[in-house]
Amino acid sequence: MKIYIKPVSTNRYTVMILQKKLPEVFEAEVLVLSPMDIGLKCYNPLRGQYNSTCLIRRLPLLKITLGVTGKDLYATGMNFVFGEAELGGARAVLSTFRLITPDTELYEERVVKEATHEIGHVLGLRHCENDCVMKFSNSVKEVDEKPVSFCSDCASKIKLR
Ligand code: ZN
Ligand code: ZN
Repeated sequence: MKIYIKPVSTNRYTVMILQKKLPEVFEAEVLVLSPMDIGLKCYNPLRGQYNSTCLIRRLPLLKITLGVTGKDLYATGMNFVFGEAELGGARAVLSTFRLITPDTELYEERVVKEATHEIGHVLGLRHCENDCVMKFSNSVKEVDEKPVSFCSDCASKIKLR
């Protein structure tokens, strides 16, 4: 399995975290693609945010590609999203905008959790009610409360694929 990281207006530090940690979560080779500027195509000036679905569509169609941005994302019907993924597809996007904290250890944990969550969706996993990284998070508090790992149900589903 390969995971391609596409930096989209993010910083090297965040990319480095993912490069280091994702191979520990998935048995995957993590490759970093050339950075892309987010531009204004997906920007909504009324909200001051970028549309996550629009951003996913601008990512290369390589399975699995995770776009990572420092910009604030929204999706239709949501005030904001930490990320979005093509369920069982190829691509996902992660926003670190609302994960920022001066505590670097906590920041790393949040970034890895949400990246793992979005990649889980790409692998076909839906939201999970167990004590699981696939639990839906509506706030950074909920991100902090859930574990970094998959529950046994979700883990077995990934292995079956
Ligand atoms: Zn989700
Ligand atoms: Zn689960």
